[in-house]
Amino acid sequence: MQLIILGAPGAGKGTLAKNIQQYKKLTHISTGDLFRKHIKQQTDLGKLAVRYIDQGLLVPDEITDDLIEHELEIIRSDFVLDGFPRNISQAEELDRIMKKFDIKLTACVHLDIDPDIVIERLVNRRSCLDCGAPYNLIMAPPKVEDVCDKCGGKLVKRADDNEDTINHRFETYRQETEPLVNYYQDKGLLIEVNCDRGILTELDNLWQDLLVRE
Ligand code: AMP
Repeated sequence: MQLIILGAPGAGKGTLAKNIQQYKKLTHISTGDLFRKHIKQQTDLGKLAVRYIDQGLLVPDEITDDLIEHELEIIRSDFVLDGFPRNISQAEELDRIMKKFDIKLTACVHLDIDPDIVIERLVNRRSCLDCGAPYNLIMAPPKVEDVCDKCGGKLVKRADDNEDTINHRFETYRQETEPLVNYYQDKGLLIEVNCDRGILTELDNLWQDLLVRE
């Protein structure tokens, strides 16, 4: 099964991807995580990407497309893409890459969410520095403040989760990524999920939808 998760920043893409990864045994590919890894390791790609990420802008397509082609060449099938594609050009490139590797997209899951809810969620979002487990200080707080329940790692706020960058990321999403909803709707691949109450409450229905398409 090959899936795409589409949604505004903070809609719950990472949380859903991690659940799908466990439930369906798919490999989780997050372009945001890949960029953050490069930034942490201070690679040339990381140094370039951080200039865009810190401003809430998309990293240029040719860089991101190459990153994904490299990942898919290794993984080939049974994956969930989180954060890619983010515009029509990337979606067309993904079509080309998948055709080249003879793989088919099963579905694109769109996480729909009220913008007011999303800003509050992002401001309260934390993740584990070591294992990446996601938390929310209001909806899903850790048992001990600033400590990961799963591995004891330190919980941190993402550098781009500040109000200025959040507004830019949201605008970028509206302009560049939202048109993908129609792109995948036209291909008959779209599954819509409303996430105003949180993605975890919607999982049972989603598993049913995915079962039909498997
Ligand atoms: P995310 O963790 O998915 O919210 O991504 C964090 C940041 O990484 C985004 O705000 C972008 O700057 C960059 N990024 C992630 N995925 C992509 C992509 N497919 N194309 C361009 N930039 C991306």
